This record gives sequence, C-alpha cells and structure tokens, in this order.
Amino acid sequence: MSTVNLQKIEEAVKMILEAVGEDPQREGLIETPKRVAKMYAEMFSGLNEDPKEYFKTVFHEEHEELVLVKDIPFHSMCEHHLVPFYGKAHIAYIPRGGVVTGLSKLARAVETTARRPQLQERITSTIADSIMEMLKPYGVYVVIEAEHMCMTMRGIKKPGAKTVTAVARGIYEQDHVKRSEILSFIQMK
Ligand SMILES: [Zn+2]
Repeated sequence: MSTVNLQKIEEAVKMILEAVGEDPQREGLIETPKRVAKMYAEMFSGLNEDPKEYFKTVFHEEHEELVLVKDIPFHSMCEHHLVPFYGKAHIAYIPRGGVVTGLSKLARAVETTARRPQLQERITSTIADSIMEMLKPYGVYVVIEAEHMCMTMRGIKKPGAKTVTAVARGIYEQDHVKRSEILSFIQMK
C-alpha cells in the first residue's frame, strides 16, 4: 500500500523547475513532473515496508556454519541531498539451531531498506539488526560498499571514491579472525 502523494510531488517538481529558471511548459519538461513522481513512488516504496518481514519464514537446516551472500546490488537515495548512492551489499551470518532464511530474502531485505531516503550507515545496521532479531543467529556481519553521487557530482567531486560501512553483531563483534575470513571471501572473484 503506497501513501505516496503523486500530485504533491508533481507540483513540487514543477516548482523546482521554475525556481532554477526553467520553463516547465516546454516540450521536453512538460511530462517531467509526472515522470519524477512515478519514479519517486518506486524509489521510496520501501518506506512502508519492514525488512524484518522477509525473515518471518524460516527453514530448518542442520547448518551452523557460515552463510555469505555477496555482491547484492542496490540503489538508494542519500537523505542529505536526494541524489542516488549505489553499490553492493555483502551479508554474512552463522545460523543457530538450524534456523536459516531463503537466500533471496537477504537481497529483498536490502532492496526494501534501500528504497527510502537513506544513509549507508543506517542500511548496514538495519539489515544486521533485522537478521539478529528475527533469525537469532550466532552472529551477523554486513559490509556495504557504495559510490555516492553527492560526492561525485557536487561538492568535493571525487568520482570513484567508495564508502565502505560494516556492522558486526554477535560473535563477529569480538572475533576479528572471523571478520577477516568474510572480507577475504568478499574480495574473491
Ligand atoms: Zn549526500
């Protein structure tokens, strides 16, 4: 269920175009507010969703060793500038009591969390905490690497600069050997 007010976005986009000195009535721009409104509805569709929902269905499998899903692509919107940041998420956890989630659920949780005005730091901790709460594993380690358009297009203009965030929960908080194991798997092509 979407609570996005398309008409309000359209009006706002039109006002921005006017404010920067454009003519919103010219041919190329006339449909732009509508297009942007539809696009925002999609890009912010995660606002009404809870990533924990994806971990409600679990499977029981006698596997109490590492599960790592790496290179999950995502796109999000920086809440400070409303421009995209995008990259890859890597999620590792060690199931406890054989409680595992479907692998695609990890990717879904990333997508839901990313589709709202966000900070990379918050995506990282939200995913780690959701998995800890719902699956109660021995530990979770989430690493996200992303390029922020607000660092590329404006301000310090440093294209290619990558921001890496990592959140460790459970045994990963103390165990740096286990953390470096994950990091070497992530680098493996
Ligand atoms: Zn920004």
